[in-house]
Amino acid sequence: MLTHPGKHRGMKDTPTVSGRPRVPVMLPLPLAGAYDYAVPAPMALRPGEFVSVPLNQREVLGVVWDAPEVPEANPVPDRRLKPVASVLPAPPMTASLRRFIDWVAAYTLSPPGAVLRMAMSVPAALEAPAPQAGWTLAPPGNSRPRITPERQRVLDVLRAGEVHAGALLAQAAGVSLGVLRGMAENGLLRPALLPRNRRFARPDPSHPGPALGPAQAAAGAALRNRVAAQRFGVTLLTGVTGSGKTEVYLDAVAECLARGRQALVLLPEIALSTQWLERFEARFGVAPALWHSEITSRTRRDTWRAVAEGEAPVVVGARSALFLPFPDLGLIVVDEEHETAFKQEEGVVYHARDMAVVRARLSQAACVLVSATPSLESLTNVEAGRYTALDLPERHGGASLPVVEVVDLRRTPPERGRFLAPPLVEAVTATIERGEQAMLFLNRRGYAPLTLCRHCGHRMRCPNCTAWLVEHRAKRLLQCHHCGHAEPPPAECPECGTANSLTAVGPGVERVMEEANALWPDARRLVMASDTLPGPAAAAEAARAIQDREVDLIIGTQIVAKGWHFPHLTLVGVVDADLGLAGGDLRAAERTVQLLHQVAGRAGRAEAPGRVLLQSFSPEHPVMQALISGDLAAFMQEEAAMRRPGHWPPFGRLAALIVSAEEEREADRTARDLGLAAPGGEGVQVLGPAPAPLALLRGRHRRRLLLKTRRDIAVQPILREWLARVPVPNHVRVQVDVDPVGFL
Ligand code: ADP
Ligand code: ZN
Repeated sequence: MLTHPGKHRGMKDTPTVSGRPRVPVMLPLPLAGAYDYAVPAPMALRPGEFVSVPLNQREVLGVVWDAPEVPEANPVPDRRLKPVASVLPAPPMTASLRRFIDWVAAYTLSPPGAVLRMAMSVPAALEAPAPQAGWTLAPPGNSRPRITPERQRVLDVLRAGEVHAGALLAQAAGVSLGVLRGMAENGLLRPALLPRNRRFARPDPSHPGPALGPAQAAAGAALRNRVAAQRFGVTLLTGVTGSGKTEVYLDAVAECLARGRQALVLLPEIALSTQWLERFEARFGVAPALWHSEITSRTRRDTWRAVAEGEAPVVVGARSALFLPFPDLGLIVVDEEHETAFKQEEGVVYHARDMAVVRARLSQAACVLVSATPSLESLTNVEAGRYTALDLPERHGGASLPVVEVVDLRRTPPERGRFLAPPLVEAVTATIERGEQAMLFLNRRGYAPLTLCRHCGHRMRCPNCTAWLVEHRAKRLLQCHHCGHAEPPPAECPECGTANSLTAVGPGVERVMEEANALWPDARRLVMASDTLPGPAAAAEAARAIQDREVDLIIGTQIVAKGWHFPHLTLVGVVDADLGLAGGDLRAAERTVQLLHQVAGRAGRAEAPGRVLLQSFSPEHPVMQALISGDLAAFMQEEAAMRRPGHWPPFGRLAALIVSAEEEREADRTARDLGLAAPGGEGVQVLGPAPAPLALLRGRHRRRLLLKTRRDIAVQPILREWLARVPVPNHVRVQVDVDPVGFL
């Protein structure tokens, strides 16, 4: 347990700093709030400054926070306060970021220090960066050194007063580093310190982009106006897949740059977004700064610092980029705003799309949410007048939308033990014969989702989770996709001991690949799944191979739904269109429509028209009908009509409490106590406790309660009061999830 030096009674050696000014300091630790520290003379501290302070015999970094509006009732006496140790040489945290941290903490019921930790993820960036050496022109001397053509090229690159890094200068002039050293010896160059942040080149807002079509130009102008207003406002930019939404919002980025403000673009799977980065470079002539979990610690430090100093004009990142220290953010774009990848489920549980709107409001920035398949939340906000809507109704360049048909698996089933029905097989064959590309989509990794014993019916389950083990045949493993548990497939059934009785049930992409190998042995095939394309480089290489027509048939999981532009792809087959519809998830239908529409949108993006075949046992299902008709707006209206009467989100508010413990009894007891203390009243309802769908996860038993309120009733005060009434034993965890999106 952490104790606060200023709050700890009877502490020895507490320096006495009577009568000195004090400041609250927020520490990046899960504490209830800021701690007071004394400000030693001659230090003067303003809110936002990064400081080092003593805590339990250690020094920790923190941020000077704002004085509380209501003074603390029992402040720590002056003489017990410890002094701030030092101030760090970093730009202070802006008031808007401090307010954002407070806001996220209050909304998600997280300790503010836990949120601050996300904004202080790179402590090394708070130290002054070491200066780097480069070359500059030496003042003219008396000697007249010989100017070879190589040297002349260097002189042409290096204008007076500029300092260039050696490697970049040599590259730009097409000379070796030795030439530079020789020029220095001859008095033509001299070493000098590089201005910092040279690695974040300024994108040129006037760099010509593609000529926009009429609808694109209108939407682009509207977005530019929103950015130019330098005020908060949210725009929902929709448009069919391939309509040029990216080109349009890059126009808004250009406007933001022209105003000298910073822009942030959030992408759901940044590591897979190589095509996006190429387009950014084509549009602005330089690469943006990147922020995601796979960048090196050096780049992380430089990027954080450059952002804080206003030197990284555009950042493209994953959800954590929301907590970067932008001093002057003018625009936040959330691309694929419907994606559940924006929800962070661990630690501080927050939805990056929703928090992006908050950050934009606190920064007086424009916010643009982008999707071909917008969430019901955002559509409802448009309807209520909270967001402005912009739509691009057509594909760019006259490309048509793909035709969607259902393959009725009841009428034309696959052969026994196979998963591709004859109409789909024929369509793939014909596509490949025409020299076009086909894609088979199945949102399931591995070979088979279930392994069972033919003799006794025993199913291979994860020992730590309520889940079946998924066979990965290439790796010869049965794996749990929730906890990572893995074991080799046993030779005999662990239940009845029968040898060779275990059999694979149902398909994963590996199994579809096996079928494809037999059906199209001469086609060039490629599997795209998160475990076969482990990193950005592999994904980029796969995308390039597809673009360059080195592949005939792509077999993929949801990775293939991610905004790729594959101009030669004309057929998409969805192996199991019913897959996402099972289970009690509130948004199962919405999510299935979004995913399958995005997958379908990969087809026919250039001249040749696209065709999509959905294998389904229920062609009459509203989800299939919506995909066939392409009328997603009508589908979403029906979704709204179903959710509105029961006050389900977005027409009501929802928060989940997940109670977990290693001992099942303990989870049950706390869940029951919470149930007994459940809040009630008009417009407030508690559902549960009930076993969570994943009743066992990583060895912990889980129970779930759902708090549902009317839209005009905030859940946070109710949750706070409720949780305060129920004591929770040490080894029991109660996780709060405001606006849950996954219901596991
Ligand atoms: P969306 O984001 O709506 O799916 P994109 O912005 O990815 O659409 O555009 C689809 C394709 O069309 C991309 O390859 C893009 O470069 C191209 N494109 C879109 N608009 C234009 C335009 N005005 N001029 C040239 N190419 C365009
Ligand atoms: Zn498991």
